[in-house]
Amino acid sequence: MDQPPLTPLVAGLPATVPFIGPETQERASGRAFVARLGANESAFGPSPRAIAAMHLAANEVWMYGDPEGFDLRADIAANHGIPRAHVVLGEGIDGLLGTLVRMLIAPGDAVVTSAGAYPTFNYHVTGYGGALHSVPYRADHADPDALAAKAHEVGARLVYLANPDNPMGSWHSGARIATLLDALPEKCLLVLDEAYIEFAPGGTSPHVAADDMRLVRMRTFSKAYGLAGLRIGYALGAAPLISAFDRVRAHFGVGRLAQAAARAALADQDYLASVVRRTEAARVRIADIGAASGLQALASATNFVTLDCGGDGALARRCVSELAARDVFVRMPGIAPLDRCIRISAAPPPMLDLLQDRLAEAVHAAKSS
Ligand SMILES: *Cc1c(COP(=O)(O)O)cnc(C)c1O
Repeated sequence: MDQPPLTPLVAGLPATVPFIGPETQERASGRAFVARLGANESAFGPSPRAIAAMHLAANEVWMYGDPEGFDLRADIAANHGIPRAHVVLGEGIDGLLGTLVRMLIAPGDAVVTSAGAYPTFNYHVTGYGGALHSVPYRADHADPDALAAKAHEVGARLVYLANPDNPMGSWHSGARIATLLDALPEKCLLVLDEAYIEFAPGGTSPHVAADDMRLVRMRTFSKAYGLAGLRIGYALGAAPLISAFDRVRAHFGVGRLAQAAARAALADQDYLASVVRRTEAARVRIADIGAASGLQALASATNFVTLDCGGDGALARRCVSELAARDVFVRMPGIAPLDRCIRISAAPPPMLDLLQDRLAEAVHAAKSS
């Protein structure tokens, strides 16, 4: 039989994926990375209590997870001091973004983001036929004024902002985000991606009422909690929006191990604090390692440091590939002028020792080729 016809929407999509995995690169090169510093995973690992919870849950893994995620949602709600009806679980922020776009964006609906911001959001918007509009960063920060102005101009239904930002590591105060909310058009929802909020200074998350209809917040267990491989995150928003997720979400998408591990991780706030402290130390060290090779660190409120290579995108791309040739995995922003930089994830000292050993040589090779 011929290939079954794709829907016109899917047939018209580019065959690109938002991220090429380090595993793909390893298969292509036939070599394993020795320092995995490109995906902002937490090489500090999860809480030992989360690992113990997974061991216990492993015996019960023949059972589906609770499709309502009742206990974990209750824990998250208690952690935020809000009712459980404001919390929905999903397969990481990536999964939740897809569900949200599916819920709110019909083909042709306008959506606004920043040029060079988190590409998985764009991927879902395009995948559901939304019309994506973008505004430039301003001095390596997402630009709330430009986002609001563009939202008015195009009649946006959704505006995306990651705070703190990936890939630049920059951030705005919660007060600034609250101002953005007030500046958005009627019936426009702000998707506030707070994947890195645990690493940010106090006051980075806006104080907004739990039932505020203008905002949905996304949180994840992938970064500070060190559980990226499990796929678990959650969204916080007004109860009617949160309950609308039930109409389309994958009800068994968050597995039993993920729910058990996330509960244990959330309960171990001391461990979280230790990861945040070790991440801060790693950021300082990455900045020093970069400076020794003439790369300037940008300020970061995340678990990575963005280093300005001091040239154009081609130079930064050569730095990334010279590091890969030396078995060090890093990534870089995709769009100018952000693409003059490379992005290096925080990690424990042994991995940063490897970075220190190899960065100078990689930068030298990138500059002389
Ligand atoms: C890492 C990252 C995510 C992905 O989170 P998951 O919960 O693992 O899907 C989402 N948004 C931003 C900005 C990120 O950097």
